[in-house]
Amino acid sequence: MKAEIMAVGTELLLGDILNTNAQYLSRELASLGTEVYYQTVVGDNPERLLKAFSLAFERADMVITTGGLGPTDDDITKEIGGKYFELEMVENEDAIKNVMDYYNGREMPESNKKQGLIPKGAKVFYNHNGTAPGCMIEKNGKILIMLPGPPYETQPMFEEYVLPFLKEKSGFTIVSKVLHLSGIGESAAAEKIADIMSKSENPTVAPYAKPNEMIFRVSARAENEDNAKDIMKPVVDEIYKRLGDYIYGEDDCTLEEAVVKALEKKGLTAAAAESCTGGLIAGRIIDFPGASKVFIDGVVSYSNESKIKRLGVKSETLNKYGAVSEQTAKEMAEGVKKALSADVGISSTGVAGPDGGTKEKPVGLVYIAVSFNGNTTVKKLNIKGSRNKIRNRVVTEALNLVLNVLK
Ligand code: AMP
Ligand code: MG
Repeated sequence: MKAEIMAVGTELLLGDILNTNAQYLSRELASLGTEVYYQTVVGDNPERLLKAFSLAFERADMVITTGGLGPTDDDITKEIGGKYFELEMVENEDAIKNVMDYYNGREMPESNKKQGLIPKGAKVFYNHNGTAPGCMIEKNGKILIMLPGPPYETQPMFEEYVLPFLKEKSGFTIVSKVLHLSGIGESAAAEKIADIMSKSENPTVAPYAKPNEMIFRVSARAENEDNAKDIMKPVVDEIYKRLGDYIYGEDDCTLEEAVVKALEKKGLTAAAAESCTGGLIAGRIIDFPGASKVFIDGVVSYSNESKIKRLGVKSETLNKYGAVSEQTAKEMAEGVKKALSADVGISSTGVAGPDGGTKEKPVGLVYIAVSFNGNTTVKKLNIKGSRNKIRNRVVTEALNLVLNVLK
């Protein structure tokens, strides 16, 4: 089956919004083995949208749209989709229920009534995250799937309705495993398994780089789930063999979850003393719901005075080596560990910029440290980029260092 992805919305053409739905859908369809030859973006204009449908169905069996399902006058995707298939718009109970449920007794604006209208005979997709129901038209061997625009509505709806539909249609099952890596760059990681990736057909191995982390997705295709898992296993095992030191989790696992679980498994507690990250390390650990079992406290220690008073960093150390130094990072990690009676002390100190850099200590120079079991490991980082980028990268590096120290 050939598919085309069509994003509807003038804001996309103006560059106000990045078309992340196309990326999401393309990726999903690729992993299902559905071929996508074209992605289209079209504004909220009835004539051009109708033309885009005609063109798309000349070259594809299935079109998936996102956007234009809202209550306002410029939301026209369903109407024009219906028009293309020569279907009249009818009130649909499921769709009306969707809108009413969302308002849950609160007064519903008159304009939302329009969202209860669906091309006759279309299957309705219930939207659990907004008022706009999606829908699907199947006619004359063509399929039109219309999904809402906001990604937090598009993605759950795709997973709930479209994914099972496409899996069933394709007659086989796809099983995927996502491997999360940190502490290694994309090209270095890809190099280590270049041979596996280049000959990967079933399973396929695809790399993705997210900010400060690296992901491999392994997807296998077979008649049933067990067979797909069997096909996937040797390749996953081989990736672990080569990159196991960097893999911190699978599927939905986040770095903070991996850190909390590693601490929990060993029955340890942690505390952080943060200068340049100003609480981001603590915040990231606390993002994971189970953090209370292992995380005691975070100290934002920005000034030298605070480093001395709250963490017991020696003033001689600060005078001799400066706040941004291996020695200060070490004393901060040891100090916070002691002050809060934690098992693991984490610290960060660096020049986040954009000002304050010198020749010896340029912007992006950061030291992180982890103190555990009588040892303190310090890591020096040289990070390029904005203040924001530097600080967030430090967080990832620090969490990664904790994982490595606990290994
Ligand atoms: P709409 O359903 O067309 O009113 O779109 C509602 C909102 O969804 C837009 O304002 C965007 O924030 C978001 N959105 C729409 N289309 C896309 C897209 N293709 N990619 C990412 N976000 C989108
Ligand atoms: Mg719109």
